[in-house]
Amino acid sequence: MAGSFVTVACPDCENEQTLFEKAASEVACAVCGHTLATPTGGKATIEGEVTDVAEAR
Ligand SMILES: [Zn+2]
Repeated sequence: MAGSFVTVACPDCENEQTLFEKAASEVACAVCGHTLATPTGGKATIEGEVTDVAEAR
């Protein structure tokens, strides 16, 4: 079950945070609490701009 890690820029405060693209639980911005990813059972729905992608190995 490989997946990627994505860096997402928070739309509210521009904090950049790295998270697993198949996050199993909701991921919130560490700075302002804005929801950055919502689990869907597969790839999480990313809210905000993805600025970087890193393949997991
Ligand atoms: Zn934020």
